[in-house]
Amino acid sequence: MRLVIIGAGFAGMYAALSAARLRDIKGVSPDELEIALVAPEPTLVVRPRLYEPKPETMTAPLLDVLNAVDVVYVQGSAETVDTKSRMVQVATAKGTRKTLSYDRLVVATGSRLFRPNIPGLAEYGFSVDSLEDAVALDKHLHGLADRPAASGRDTVVVAGGGFTGIEAATEMPPRLRAILGKGAKPRVIIVERNPAIAPDMGEGPRPVIEEALRKVGVETRVGVGVASLDKSGVTLSNGDQIETETVIWAAGIRAAPLTQQIPAERDNFGRLLVDPCLRVPKVSGVFATGDAARAACDDDGNYALMSCQHATRMGAFAGNNAAAELLGVPTKPYHQKAYVTCLDLGEAGALFTRGWERTVEMVGEVAKKTKQEINGVWIYPPKPERAAALASADPEQVTKL
Ligand SMILES: Cc1cc2nc3c(=O)[nH]c(=O)nc-3n(C[C@H](O)[C@H](O)[C@H](O)COP(=O)(O)OP(=O)(O)OC[C@H]3O[C@@H](n4cnc5c(N)ncnc54)[C@H](O)[C@@H]3O)c2cc1C
Repeated sequence: MRLVIIGAGFAGMYAALSAARLRDIKGVSPDELEIALVAPEPTLVVRPRLYEPKPETMTAPLLDVLNAVDVVYVQGSAETVDTKSRMVQVATAKGTRKTLSYDRLVVATGSRLFRPNIPGLAEYGFSVDSLEDAVALDKHLHGLADRPAASGRDTVVVAGGGFTGIEAATEMPPRLRAILGKGAKPRVIIVERNPAIAPDMGEGPRPVIEEALRKVGVETRVGVGVASLDKSGVTLSNGDQIETETVIWAAGIRAAPLTQQIPAERDNFGRLLVDPCLRVPKVSGVFATGDAARAACDDDGNYALMSCQHATRMGAFAGNNAAAELLGVPTKPYHQKAYVTCLDLGEAGALFTRGWERTVEMVGEVAKKTKQEINGVWIYPPKPERAAALASADPEQVTKL
């Protein structure tokens, strides 16, 4: 029997670990149940850290931990999924192709930035969404130091005033000062189409965010969008122009394209709708998880967000359940009642909220310590020691905040 997991992000990593955990608990050998993880690289890209300096360092190796729990790593990108014949075709970086049959499939292909068809965006827009994008932005920022000082050089426009946009923007003043020199006066402007910043965070935390933005000198332009970009700046939907050489697009993500090959219902973000055990209904043998899935996380009408916090736990449930079906064990409905947010606010510290109503629990330096712990420790893969790695993936214990 073979369980194939596509994607080695937070969801895919925990799907593999938790499937291996259940196989181990049931005393089944890797020869009887093969668990294969397909991903372009055997590394975890620590996406929540890509707004920080040195983005090229934001990866963690996975091969040793996969080997420690007898998960087979298959290098490549899943190009096609045929759910009728239960086959996945994988393209390798060398241009070769191989076909993997599966008895159960876990789609954990995550998400990627959605770039609308705005003139100039593809050519001039940067982002902090993928490792490649974040590294390209960092290289561009360092290159600014060699350019003549002008208002456009020292100005960064961040399009999108949600979670990612705020983190990218508040990190920017010290990043730019480090690159351009202490005397530089960088200008950072968030452009947000909604009438208020952090539209999804609600009224409670907003004053903390607005105060932090003031403190770190990040300006906001709300109620307007970016209409076009060119070499020297952006034009806003109200006709205003901002001279800038750096526009960071942070206005929305969508599920990765592979989800479109699964013949099933998807939401507006392209996420596959799943049942409580994270199965894709009516597509036999297929589970979806993490940013690729839309799953209810409680009985109160809350749905998992495209977040590391949800992806990690959903991954553990999906892997467990896919293995459970093959091992003849009952599956476990995914549930995740606790929900917190921890928003980095640069030199103004951070903001920690609890619950779906986002009650402010910590601000400033105290919250920043928690953010540093989340970003520097909690979200990294477990050590490559078999017992510890398997134990870390108990679905009931993963991301229990
Ligand atoms: C700047 C930034 C800040 C963030 N901050 C936070 C935060 O503070 N808190 C939080 O909870 N979340 C945060 N997030 C969101 C979080 O990173 C994502 O929700 C999380 O990464 C989703 O995990 P995932 O495993 O579902 O997908 P991903 O992490 O996107 O991983 C998917 C993996 O699948 C692989 N893949 C895709 N297609 C294929 C294919 N066809 N074949 C093989 N492999 C494939 C990809 O290469 C990737 O490795 C942030 C994201 C960004 C970009």
